[in-house]
Amino acid sequence: MSDSFFSGFELDARLQQAIQKVGFEEPTPVQQQAIPVALTGRDLLVSAETGSGKTAAFLLPLMHKLLQKTVEQERAEPSSTRALVLVPTRELAIQIVKHCDQLASCSHLKTGLIIGGNSFKYQQAIFRKNPEIIIATPGRMAEHISHASCDLTDIEVLVLDEADRMLDLGLAEDVIRIANNCKKPRQTFLFSATLTHKAFAAVQQKILENPEVIKLNAGRQQNENIKQQVILADADDHKDNLLSALFERQPFTKALVFCNKKVQVNRLCGLIRYRSTAEKPQRAGLLHGDMSQDERRDTVSKLRGGSLNIIFATDLAARGLDVKGIDLIINYDMPRSGTDYTHRIGRTGRAGEEGLAISLVNTYDWSLMSSIERFLKIRLERRKIAGLEARYKGPKKLKSSGKAAGSKKKKNNKSASKSTMKANKNNLGKSASGRAVKSEQSETTSRDADSRSKQGFSALKKK
Ligand code: AMP
Repeated sequence: MSDSFFSGFELDARLQQAIQKVGFEEPTPVQQQAIPVALTGRDLLVSAETGSGKTAAFLLPLMHKLLQKTVEQERAEPSSTRALVLVPTRELAIQIVKHCDQLASCSHLKTGLIIGGNSFKYQQAIFRKNPEIIIATPGRMAEHISHASCDLTDIEVLVLDEADRMLDLGLAEDVIRIANNCKKPRQTFLFSATLTHKAFAAVQQKILENPEVIKLNAGRQQNENIKQQVILADADDHKDNLLSALFERQPFTKALVFCNKKVQVNRLCGLIRYRSTAEKPQRAGLLHGDMSQDERRDTVSKLRGGSLNIIFATDLAARGLDVKGIDLIINYDMPRSGTDYTHRIGRTGRAGEEGLAISLVNTYDWSLMSSIERFLKIRLERRKIAGLEARYKGPKKLKSSGKAAGSKKKKNNKSASKSTMKANKNNLGKSASGRAVKSEQSETTSRDADSRSKQGFSALKKK
């Protein structure tokens, strides 16, 4: 065994070997802090961002614990699944299974994936095979409990990953129900970007036992490897031109463009494919909640393999996306909360890589942008694209918060529609649609929007 920094941890030799195979040389800060405490058997409550290496921070001690029972002991006294990891989205679950398989590659440990959208019967067969570790989304897992198709009484380690997101999605009840079906006492790890969610206290009290609290980011720390910029914009057709110009002029390997609505994702993907040229070909794909699991998986693997270099996505679909080499994030629409913003830009700058995040901000995005700046305590760098400067220069009057003054609902709507008309006129009426998509169904549910407005800030409500 060569001297990797990981050898400082008392991890099973088969895990040390797998760590070397994966090529991790040095533990990330969250791994440095969480692994030794987890190895003592204590429960953990950790605030850590996606991209920080948090997955290995819980998988390594979890696997170490499972490996303490030898195959012979297991044969003599067989148990069913011994560890369960709950995550908010299917994509994240798939991602974690991959990570798990890598770290388990030198041992006998097996992983099962239980997510919505896959065959229920097939998943019942997975449970019958008793993989040591199950990675699941709470909704489908709760369904299996209702059908008595799984036995969680041998679960020694329960992990809640991206717990704040699970609470946002209204999954607290399912999570608590699943936890109540697991063995007691057991070891529980809760990982979350923020520890301030309103529903946290109840979940924490019901699931964790005297946890060690590790705060790596207080929920707002910014990744220094990600440069964050804002480009002012007019109506959508101006944003479209900015997007095309960025793809032409901004060097990048893989880009992820976020929109708030599926309809916008579809439109932009078509537009950029149409505008792709032989000199600068762009291979665009999309990712949103209307796509089947197979379609989404196919898109992600094409991005990973390089046959796609741009993905247009909504928040829900891109959650947990971990693809090496994403170096450009564009917020075509400003996200609705500081936490969503952090998650979006966290798709780049992963594991020490450099990344650039650019937000296109027009009159509708301004207040969200200033709320995000206040929430994250940062000022986003202003940038202009030569020849495509926006007529919109920001609100005429600003409140002390940085938001547009005169934000009473009625007044705001009036001035917003006025400036859209003006912007559309200025852009020669190329995009009469502007933001007429407003009435179309957003991918996020109203429950999401409600909970989002309760966390971080409530810019959307005030808009
Ligand atoms: P995560 O925050 O768990 O999603 O991890 C983000 C990325 O960092 C993943 O691609 C991991 O494979 C990678 N990673 C995790 N731990 C390390 C490490 N110690 N050294 C290098 N890369 C790592």
